[in-house]
Amino acid sequence: MVAGQILTLNAGSSSLKFALFEPLRDDATRCRVRGQLEGIGAAARLVVQTGDGGQPARRQWRADEAAPRDVRAALQVVLAELDSRGLLDGLRAIGHRIVHGGTEFSSARAVDDALLARIEGLQSLAPLHQPYGIACLRAARERFVHAAQVACFDTAFHRTQAFVEDTFALPREYYDAGVRRYGFHGLSYQYVAQRYAQLDPLRGRGRVVIAHLGNGASACALRDGRSTSSTMGFTALDGLPMGTRCGQIDPGVLLWLMQERKMDADAISDLLYRHSGLKGLSGLSNDMRVLRASESSRAREAIEYFVARLAREIAALAASIGGIDALVFTAGIGENDAAVRAGACASLHWLGVRVDDAANAAAVGGREARISTADSPIAVWVVPTDEESTIAGQTLDVIEPGAAAA
Ligand code: ADP
Repeated sequence: MVAGQILTLNAGSSSLKFALFEPLRDDATRCRVRGQLEGIGAAARLVVQTGDGGQPARRQWRADEAAPRDVRAALQVVLAELDSRGLLDGLRAIGHRIVHGGTEFSSARAVDDALLARIEGLQSLAPLHQPYGIACLRAARERFVHAAQVACFDTAFHRTQAFVEDTFALPREYYDAGVRRYGFHGLSYQYVAQRYAQLDPLRGRGRVVIAHLGNGASACALRDGRSTSSTMGFTALDGLPMGTRCGQIDPGVLLWLMQERKMDADAISDLLYRHSGLKGLSGLSNDMRVLRASESSRAREAIEYFVARLAREIAALAASIGGIDALVFTAGIGENDAAVRAGACASLHWLGVRVDDAANAAAVGGREARISTADSPIAVWVVPTDEESTIAGQTLDVIEPGAAAA
């Protein structure tokens, strides 16, 4: 057993998710508290949930209050909250979600100055994600000089992919320069793959497609728990349409935007990352719940596009692994939106996907459930994700190799 607790930090553009884990003798880790600070730089709100499942504590900043404006300030708020609960005593290590690990990192690493410099060198590959993780890491290093800091990469899980899956059909010099399909959401896939293998050991070792459908969305094909292919590519833009990101797009559209609309790289980046996807198509919102509640035909069409592309990508991933034994849904939409799951599964009926309507309708609110019929050739499950648990496990493994598996 490892003495001391592990704090996990997962910093995004407008949110900071955190959790505190305690290593156990008989299991990997136990979560004592988790939460998130959302709306950084705007209408900030903090939610803290204790591991015993009690009522979450909430704090909302009023317009006239000084709310946290950046990741560093958000971290101060989170740490003050944990400190006020006496939870920072005996902190042993901090595990950070770092989106991009490039070609170099296929597992989590202890952070030192040299590693930090290498991660910073990857900023150009994920300019809209990497800076937040790095800012959080820097702030945590300054505050906790004696705690180990560990970088856990979203891309690392996909480093097992073969050349045909991670290359583009460009001259080889671009591949060698790092222009590859990296794949993201790896911390989520690792958690869901491991948990699914516990729930359904036989199929969990087989050909599995996991659909991570949150604000960011992607799907991943796995064999024997390892990533073989994913819908996200060089950046977190490719593949499925997302809350505000476009997903797969003909590169000729970008050329047209440049040549005919005279848009520069910043303008195109803003369009593709912030104004496309569900938000762009609906003209209403990036939030699936808002679209569901709307009567507008554009909202309906945005959902229809999302579902159609989802079914298409799942089938493509199934082809890449020579068939499919199980399909697993996770993240906000995957865990809660039964109609999205039903729609995608209906389009995959020919493949052997049979959904039990009652089981599907009941699988909401973050519950693990099998939603396929007993005689469905392909098992369909909902397995809520827990990236924080993966970060804690990887962190533990770095500071005490072998402890997480003991
Ligand atoms: P993030 O990528 O920010 O972690 P989440 O995994 O929390 O995102 O997923 C956010 C998405 O999940 C949003 O589109 C939200 O509308 C959707 N979502 C959350 N709850 C529900 C629900 N009950 N029904 C439909 N969609 C939901």
